[in-house]
Amino acid sequence: MAQGQTAPGIVSGRLSSEDIAANFDDLHPAYAPHEAAVAADRCYFCYDAPCVTACPTDIDIPLFIRQIQTGHAQAAAKTILDQNILGGMCARVCPTETLCEEACVRETAEGKPVEIGRLQRYATDTVMAAGVHPFERAASTGKTVAVVGAGPAGLACAHRLAMLGHDVVIHEAREKAGGLNEFGIAAYKSTENYAEAEVDWLLKIGGITIENGSALGRGVTLDGLRDAYDAVFLSIGLGGVNALRAEGEDKDGVRDAVDFIADLRQAADLSALPVGRNVVVIGGGMTAVDAAVQSKLLGAENVTIAYRRGREAMGASRFEQDLAASKGVKLMFNVQPVAVHGNGAATEIELEYTSSAGGELTGTGETTRLAADQVFKAIGQTLEGAPSELALDGRKIAVTGAGRTSVNGVWAGGDCAAGGDDLTVTAVAEGRDAAMDIHEAMKG
Ligand SMILES: Cc1cc2nc3c(=O)[nH]c(=O)nc-3n(C[C@H](O)[C@H](O)[C@H](O)COP(=O)(O)OP(=O)(O)OC[C@H]3O[C@@H](n4cnc5c(N)ncnc54)[C@H](O)[C@@H]3O)c2cc1C
Ligand code: SF4
Repeated sequence: MAQGQTAPGIVSGRLSSEDIAANFDDLHPAYAPHEAAVAADRCYFCYDAPCVTACPTDIDIPLFIRQIQTGHAQAAAKTILDQNILGGMCARVCPTETLCEEACVRETAEGKPVEIGRLQRYATDTVMAAGVHPFERAASTGKTVAVVGAGPAGLACAHRLAMLGHDVVIHEAREKAGGLNEFGIAAYKSTENYAEAEVDWLLKIGGITIENGSALGRGVTLDGLRDAYDAVFLSIGLGGVNALRAEGEDKDGVRDAVDFIADLRQAADLSALPVGRNVVVIGGGMTAVDAAVQSKLLGAENVTIAYRRGREAMGASRFEQDLAASKGVKLMFNVQPVAVHGNGAATEIELEYTSSAGGELTGTGETTRLAADQVFKAIGQTLEGAPSELALDGRKIAVTGAGRTSVNGVWAGGDCAAGGDDLTVTAVAEGRDAAMDIHEAMKG
């Protein structure tokens, strides 16, 4: 029997399993073939298409849409996967509303873009459902490459290198591959264990070994990898989390949003996952929205996102902000946390109003309190565990060109490397481009 949304504290089973399953249904369900045909028909097949320029992986979007339109979904998938081997996941998670679909001429003219993301999903789902892997390895080169981290950047790099005939070993700290595709992306974007299925499909290229539980910094050293392999690619993501810097942030009920989402993604039964009655999420990016929306879908009664700046500065796109609002999440702007109150466990959060002048944020001194038995910190991830010999650029690994680090023979890409947006598609592009550069460098 479900406990209901008003049960006090952080408890499991607020909603019935059936309600939770319905809540976590696919955000953008797959097209049926006739829907895909209708959607493809809307494309003008523009010359010099702005949607392509807006895609970080440069997929030939008009070509793949034309292939769908003419009934060749598997050829369309090949066009996509040539550029983006995780095109299936990107079709589910890309903020298309700020990338290809924002640039689409039909968005500019009519406010209704061609639904590129859903068409991409249609094509890539077709090829995966058929169990086809449309790439073959080149003859072995005898070269070996170590990839550290099996997230989107590492997987994309490994696949490209394997295709070019190199042997790749991925050292992955966790027991499961996929990185944030497996542990971070919202459950309603990656349903039916898609992340794991996609990794299995990607590995069909051959020549890639994943060593789970093998972590750089825990027995594995950069020097050791440089000695043992012809090249090294670092794709360790951002494992650390910024501190809230609010009094009482160590109280029970205060947690990193990313950990909560990882638990959620790995839960066999979502109704068994505890969630607060009054949840407050601190932050303004995708992670904040994902933690808030998923808390609401698990049955929290009141969920608030508290962001220190105005709506226009939020990292989450307008689509995501609207998604949160449509699920009943309240958005509060221009407030920052100053204290978490409660005797041992959180019961309230105190927020101070902010004002900003010339980009500088200051507290006004005026505060307000919200009931909060669960507080999620979603204020950004930080680089953790990067080898000390690597030069940094700000708080990330410094790179030049296609991911070359300051250490000879070592490349880096994805979230851990400086430059670029922290998005799945950017990580894939950087992994792929680093692989091509590594390939050229190994030719000597
Ligand atoms: C909650 C959340 C939601 C997101 N939602 C979206 C979204 O909807 N759309 C989108 O485009 N982007 C989203 N992102 C961003 C996206 O997930 C990342 O940009 C992307 O996963 C970065 O890929 P990566 O390969 O660089 O790193 P990661 O995916 O973080 O992978 C890094 C891998 O390295 C491993 N690792 C770390 N340290 C070591 C070590 N020392 N030794 C060995 N292995 C190690 C990790 O275990 C992990 O598997 C989201 C991010 C978060 C946190
Ligand atoms: S901009 Fe829009 S209409 Fe033009 S090719 Fe791209 S998807 Fe088609």
